Amino acid sequence: MSRAVQPGEIRAERGVVARSQYADRVHRPDPDSDDPRPACQEAEIAQADEYRDVAVSAVTPHYRPCGNPQCFGRRDDTARHLWHGPLANRPLRIQTFHIAATYLSFYEPPLTRRQVHALLAVESTERSIQRGLQDALALGWLARGPRAHQYESGPLTALFDDHTPGGRQYWRDSVTSPSRRVRGYHGAVVAALTGETPVTSRVVADRLDVSGERTLQRGLRDARAAGWLVWDEQASAYYQGPLAGAIGPSDPHPHAGGGER
Ligand SMILES: [Zn+2]
Repeated sequence: MSRAVQPGEIRAERGVVARSQYADRVHRPDPDSDDPRPACQEAEIAQADEYRDVAVSAVTPHYRPCGNPQCFGRRDDTARHLWHGPLANRPLRIQTFHIAATYLSFYEPPLTRRQVHALLAVESTERSIQRGLQDALALGWLARGPRAHQYESGPLTALFDDHTPGGRQYWRDSVTSPSRRVRGYHGAVVAALTGETPVTSRVVADRLDVSGERTLQRGLRDARAAGWLVWDEQASAYYQGPLAGAIGPSDPHPHAGGGER
């Protein structure tokens, strides 16, 4: 039902990154330069650096979008890259659910359907947006706002905004989303935000009372790509990732912070 997004469908946005191994930011390209160069003043400060041309969605979250106004410093730009970079090739339902589960932790309500549309990495049909929003409503991340197609914080988002300590009460006995992949993703986000790590697909399957190991695994991998979780090879388990640390009570894993996919 939900298919992966093809590379040609992704709204390609070009950026430049320094070739230095210490570079950690992606800049908007200088429109007046033939060579790859940042639009902001960094080029003058770090004259020795050479830059290469990249697709922005391919390098986030390894590189942070540059916060200078000539680059991605406008609020809307930062938001868009925060959301669409790492999940650009995932099904739209997952992308929409991801936006729905995080947007109101950063910005004032309401979240509108039009905003979701603008934040997605690809052109989208109303139907896949609708599905992702329904998932987020059913799972408690969103609540309906006073007007049609407007959403406010749901009970889950509100709980995490209060930095309430973790606990089993956040896990629902049964969830109404028919998509196991969304459930896996949801379980991963709850686990990451409540600090109930390490997380394995077994744990998520038990807590959510669902079967379908492979689909759940996909949801967990989506959550890892988005930065909710990091994978520890030795422990064969997931731990809290940088995005969860930015939103919820911090319980960083010693190996967290890398933006690996
Ligand atoms: Zn810049």
